[in-house]
Order: sequence, then structure tokens, then C-alpha cells
Amino acid sequence: MKICKTIKEMQTEVSKRDRNKTLGFVPTMGALHEGHLSLVRLSKSNCDLSAVSIYVNPSQFGPQEDFGRYPRNLERDLALLADNGADYVFLPDNEQMYPAGFKTWVEVEGLSSILCGNSRPGHFRGVATIVLKLVQIVKPDLMFMGMKDFQQVVVLETMLRDLNSDTQIFRCPIVRESDGLAMSSRNMYLSPEERAKALCLSQTLDMARHMVATGTKCAEEVILAAEDKINSAGGRIDYISLVNGSNLQPQDLIDQDTRMLLAVYIGNTRLIDNGSLMQSD
Ligand code: AMP
Repeated sequence: MKICKTIKEMQTEVSKRDRNKTLGFVPTMGALHEGHLSLVRLSKSNCDLSAVSIYVNPSQFGPQEDFGRYPRNLERDLALLADNGADYVFLPDNEQMYPAGFKTWVEVEGLSSILCGNSRPGHFRGVATIVLKLVQIVKPDLMFMGMKDFQQVVVLETMLRDLNSDTQIFRCPIVRESDGLAMSSRNMYLSPEERAKALCLSQTLDMARHMVATGTKCAEEVILAAEDKINSAGGRIDYISLVNGSNLQPQDLIDQDTRMLLAVYIGNTRLIDNGSLMQSD
């Protein structure tokens, strides 16, 4: 496993490879868990070579957010990546990614200001900018991204399409703990009591699917029941939305394309989850 700390090293390493070999790429912020590792394994099974980046990108965190205390455990992450067969690891620092004089930002209009973008202004501008930079450096054939961050996938697919990138996104399923909680580096913030409460997100998705399977078509009815469930579990709702999975526009009537997206505070920790209501994903 080749570890690259500078952009130059990373560019040199990937450009040295046999050009017939396809390259998969998994961008992460580290504190790796099975969700991240599932992306690495999907990259390994779909591409000849796999690169992973670990970079906690300051520009996607708001001023009141958890950038400073975001979990970091580089040694453990590197051991996990070596065990899972990553070929390249890119570990840039802020000076590499945002050198003095940095002025260019990527804005995916509309999609960046709704849902998580509404509660986290500037978040997707930071995400889109850093991911475009990483794609320019690594030049992967496929980029493996988790549907855990569903809006992020839609924003980045739109960006890559609009900017004529050759890189395609491979959508990867959400990996969950055995009790249903979607894996997240932020789950580490939860106290044991909060960890138990956090189950209300996946349970709300299950409830919504059940309502739809038993005939409910009205989005508002599902949202009201979901709000009740989260409130009675002690979660604080940021948003619960039923949207069309391809354009993230709200839907009044539930159909094959409807996804439920939710963001809920459990204590001070903001958790997200989502799922299709009529299809398995
Ligand atoms: P992060 O380190 O949070 O920026 O996440 C890096 C990548 O891992 C993103 O594409 C996430 O969507 C993905 N990811 C995070 N958690 C999960 C999960 N539980 N299941 C699948 N993918 C995930």
C-alpha cells in the first residue's frame, strides 16, 4: 500500500500505473468503520486498483460544527486499509488542499441549499469543491460513495455530469449495525442512552415502509407518523422529507421513486438516514 502525503506524489503514483488498469477511488474523512470498508471492498471487486483518501475537509464544516473534535485515528485507519487491500492512500493536509491564494469554489445550484444544505449552509459547496479537487488529482474511473449520504451522492453526480468529468459514481448500499443504526463516524459521540435513542431513525424508516406496504400513499400522513415516532423517542427533528430520489424534490404522493430522508439530533449529535419506501436498496 503506497501512502502519499502530497498532491505531486499521488499524481505521480497513479499515473505510473499500467493504463489498462482501472482505478477505483474512495474519498473519506477517516475514523473508518465497516461502512467505509465496504466501499473499499466494492472498489476492489469492481476495479483493478483502489485508492482511498483520508482528509477532514474544513470547508464543509460550519463554524459551530464539529471540525475540531471530529474523530481522527490515522494509525488504526491505515491498518484497516492495508488489511482491506487498498493500493494507494492519499493523506493531504490543509496546505496541500487550500494553499494561500485559493479562490475557486464549486456550487451545485438548488440541490446544495435544500435538506442538509438548508441546515448546513456552505456544506455542499465545501464537499463539491474538495471532491472535484480529489477527482482531478486521482483521476479515477469509478468513485465509490455511500448512499448513507444520499443528497451528497446526488449533488456530486450532478457536478460530475455538468463539468463533463470522466469519473462515474458507483452508489454503495448503507451499512448498518445489527440493530439497524446506520454506521457513522459520528456514532462515537453518542452516550449509551443516546445510542439506544438513535435507533429511532432506522425504525422510522421501517415504519414508513410498513405504512406504504399496507396501502398509504399520502406523504403527509407518513411524515406526521414519522414526526410522532422521533419526538416520542426523544429525538429533535432537523428535517423529515419524502422526495423523488433523482431530483430531491418533495413528493405529495408516494411512488416507486420516493425516498424518505431524515436528519435528527440525538442530544447534540446530528444523525442522518434515508431509504427508498417502495423498493429495496
Ligand atoms: P465520510 O468519511 O463520512 O466522509 O464518508 C466517506 C464515504 O463513506 C461517503 O461516501 C459515505 O457516504 C460513506 N459511508 C459512510 N457511512 C456509511 C455507511 N454506513 N454505509 C455506507 N457508506 C457509508
